[in-house]
Amino acid sequence: MTASAESDIKSLQLEELRSLAQPSYRASQITDWLYKKRVNSFAEMTDLPQVLREKLAADFSFERIDVVRVLGSSDTTRKFLFRLSDGNLIEAVLIPASPALYGSPSDRRTICVSTQVGCAYGCKFCASGLDGWKRNLRPNEIVNQIIAVERESREGIDNIVFMGMGEPLANYNNVMRAIQIINAPWGIGIGARHITISTSGLVPQIRKLGEQPLQIRLAVSLHGATDGVRSRIMPVNRKYNLSSLLEACRYFTSLKKQRITFEYILIAEVNDSDEQARKLAKHAQSLDAMVNLIPYNNVEGLDWIRPSAGRQKRFLALLRAAGVRATLRREKGEDIAAACGQLRLQAERTVVNA
Ligand code: SAH
Ligand code: SF4
Repeated sequence: MTASAESDIKSLQLEELRSLAQPSYRASQITDWLYKKRVNSFAEMTDLPQVLREKLAADFSFERIDVVRVLGSSDTTRKFLFRLSDGNLIEAVLIPASPALYGSPSDRRTICVSTQVGCAYGCKFCASGLDGWKRNLRPNEIVNQIIAVERESREGIDNIVFMGMGEPLANYNNVMRAIQIINAPWGIGIGARHITISTSGLVPQIRKLGEQPLQIRLAVSLHGATDGVRSRIMPVNRKYNLSSLLEACRYFTSLKKQRITFEYILIAEVNDSDEQARKLAKHAQSLDAMVNLIPYNNVEGLDWIRPSAGRQKRFLALLRAAGVRATLRREKGEDIAAACGQLRLQAERTVVNA
């Protein structure tokens, strides 16, 4: 089996299916089987002629992702560990109704999906980068995380955040291909404004994302309000410094009528000073951005610590006093290693039983 971005049936757009299956209504039959009825094989597509089913099976793979482990219960954050067809492990997190997450405060269910196996960016606080980068996920592997979580939890998903393992904008084409399928009425049908891409700050791709037509939301992992602090914990800042990043954010917001979000993990003695808060407030104000503060989640093998509750609240208060819309995320999944990459790391360092 080849492993190009388009080799799997769930990586294709409706248009592409139309050129493969004649007459063209066959393409809609196929997408109905894939995304509405959600079958697991070509053989189950019973209203397609046998020859077409055989041709599809010969030309395309129909991969699955296997759920290896689920942690958490139905009223808390649930974490899903998946095994891909080549044996690699990835994870997704299902976050129940939450007042302080992405999208509007409501009863929405949010899924956080992975975009790569591992991550090449090596942020100093993050479990996903600890073992380096292995490969990009293909579009079907991104789409399948959503389908598998909906099936396993028996719940529909309203919001998608690309905040799991990996840097989505370093896998731009496959992520956008997946988003087309997630967004399309013939696919999973989730509105673009309910889809958020989080990036550590890849400047050229932020610009490109601004130029494409979908109104996807953007979250930028800032985690430092000066080059000094940011470069210490995020090596990517040495390539794209703060001023070039903020410039790209300005370009993005000039093209899209929406506010972006700055994510900011609070780490004691690293980025939690009053001075950082004031500088962060300035950056946020100049872009009319929202700020989402995230208390650092402990990662085995790393010795950062989260600031005290008092310190966290003071940081939040300084932002708000400057007129910035800011939230402090209540950690919902610490007990189940919900910070990105942690579950996979645990699993790889112990023995995984299928
Ligand atoms: N690569 C992209 C998206 C995945 S990482 C990016 O960096 O934006 C996304 C988020 O994972 C980070 O912004 C942060 O919110 C979270 N994260 C990573 N390590 C964490 C930790 N130790 N504690 C809390 N959150 C963490
Ligand atoms: Fe990669 Fe994002 Fe983790 Fe940084 S925070 S190592 S970019 S996944």
